[in-house]
Amino acid sequence: MRDKITVVGSLNYDIVLKIPRLPECGETLPADDAAFSPGGKGANQAVQAAKLGVPVHMVGCVGTDAHGDVLLEAACKYGVDTAHVRRCGEPTGMGVINAMEDGSVFACIVRGANFAVTKEDIDRAEEILKETFLVVLQMEIPQEINGYAIKKAKECGCRVLLNAAPAEEIPLDYLQMCDIIVLNEVEAGFYLNTDVKNEEDARKGAALLAEKYGTDIIITLGKAGAVVSEQGDVTFIPANKVEAIETTGAGDSFIGGVGYALRNGQSLTDACKFAACCSAVTVCRLGAQDSMPFLEEVGKLAA
Ligand code: ADP
Repeated sequence: MRDKITVVGSLNYDIVLKIPRLPECGETLPADDAAFSPGGKGANQAVQAAKLGVPVHMVGCVGTDAHGDVLLEAACKYGVDTAHVRRCGEPTGMGVINAMEDGSVFACIVRGANFAVTKEDIDRAEEILKETFLVVLQMEIPQEINGYAIKKAKECGCRVLLNAAPAEEIPLDYLQMCDIIVLNEVEAGFYLNTDVKNEEDARKGAALLAEKYGTDIIITLGKAGAVVSEQGDVTFIPANKVEAIETTGAGDSFIGGVGYALRNGQSLTDACKFAACCSAVTVCRLGAQDSMPFLEEVGKLAA
């Protein structure tokens, strides 16, 4: 039975610094607080779907270091199957996230083991792909491997969701192989080569990209909601009104939620409505994976 989600992507050990402002060049600025948390877009999206009750397999790489142990333990704790996460000689990927009080986030990532994922790693997951209905990818492993994984996923009969983030130049034929492409407003601006600031921009942008790639498109706009183009029909998905305290992982939570709802047979547009409820819970709590809701916690908002 095709009931699984397979996430091919990154696992990062995140260091989250709470800072009052950005330091000047040459200035050493004391941070208000520091926290360590398991992250990486791939692992976050996998954890959100698993917390909602989907059987999720992760394909990727971590190092043989202690950070790798932490990431595997965290993913397993939430039910992600990590049998296809290979331990390699590179250091585990890392994220350094500077978060300011007004919610602005400035992040750098160290790719490390995420860039050691190979075509053989994808081939080894072929049996899982045959039981997978949705393959989810991001842009935090080598682009060539992503392209290979997308092709393999299509050969195995899976639907493919690409979160084309962080934004980078991607060959058109590789985007056209996908079924759903998810972007936030910054990424949408990159792929459209114009600013995406509001619902109107996102509606136009989603329609343009849907036409160009021949895929469904989701553009998320933070607390301003999201726009989805499904089979050419463009719909605005409002965000839930909540008191957000930290927005790290909002987009990843959204994607995990979309995966869960698609598995239940919902349309992509309805899946986005459910996903907005998942993200609304996530932004009201600290952390990324820990802040993502279990199914019963989304229930009230999604009802
Ligand atoms: P990313 O983390 O990829 O930048 P966004 O910030 O666009 O993603 O957020 C994804 C989704 O999460 C939004 O479309 C919205 O539904 C929800 N969301 C984000 N921020 C908030 C917020 N402050 N309040 C309520 N919902 C939010």
